[in-house]
Amino acid sequence: MAANFAPLVNLFVIQKMREHTSTQCIYCSSEATEREHVPPRCLLEKPYPPNLQTLPVCAHCNRGFALDEEYFIVLLSQIGTSDALTSKIGEGGSVDRALSHSPRLDDRITDALSVSNDGRVMISPELPRVLDVVGKIALGLFVLRYRQVPSLREIECAEVHPYNIEESRPVATFVSTFTEHFRPKRWTTVQEGVFSYIFVRPMQSQRHLCCIMDFHSTAWGVAHVPIPRRFRSRRRTKSDPLQFQLKFDPSR
Ligand SMILES: [Zn+2]
Repeated sequence: MAANFAPLVNLFVIQKMREHTSTQCIYCSSEATEREHVPPRCLLEKPYPPNLQTLPVCAHCNRGFALDEEYFIVLLSQIGTSDALTSKIGEGGSVDRALSHSPRLDDRITDALSVSNDGRVMISPELPRVLDVVGKIALGLFVLRYRQVPSLREIECAEVHPYNIEESRPVATFVSTFTEHFRPKRWTTVQEGVFSYIFVRPMQSQRHLCCIMDFHSTAWGVAHVPIPRRFRSRRRTKSDPLQFQLKFDPSR
């Protein structure tokens, strides 16, 4: 965790700024009436990290994504092998309870299961819902990291690649998380073994960055995000405490 000290300093500055200046939902630009954790707490484990960041959202977007996030964690728990995920599907676990309370969700998960010719149980998820969650979290992480708010439409090519049972991560994406000396680049760990992320520039691309998110050491979510405009830092003074403004894309 010590390696994440520098980003946390920046996040603190952003948090202070948003509390005073930001009134727009980061997803749809309408008036923000609530704040949402990034990443969403339902994808983390209790006790939650004390430094978890929030961003302004409207009630409509906040509620709208909640069901997809629940679906995503239920899906992860079906394929995950980590202790945290397997305990969720055990009797009384959070996923077990969610499925008990929502027969419709239970049906949708059951309908997604099939058995392949070689006898393996396969799951065909509702991909648009999953990719919406990945893209949305990538946008939130981008805002926290670069202090700019792109349109959700600019978050492209969201993908999910499970890797705990069978490796499905694209080689080029995997390699982009290593230096030219093949040492791992520095990830930002929000919660050890549960959620970490990194922004990398894919090989031979000048047009976008990749936001790669690791969920429960089970799957990577990958989304293309815009190249951030260069942020010109200003020296802050005690009498000048709120210099940082969220920069919304004027084309939104
Ligand atoms: Zn909204």
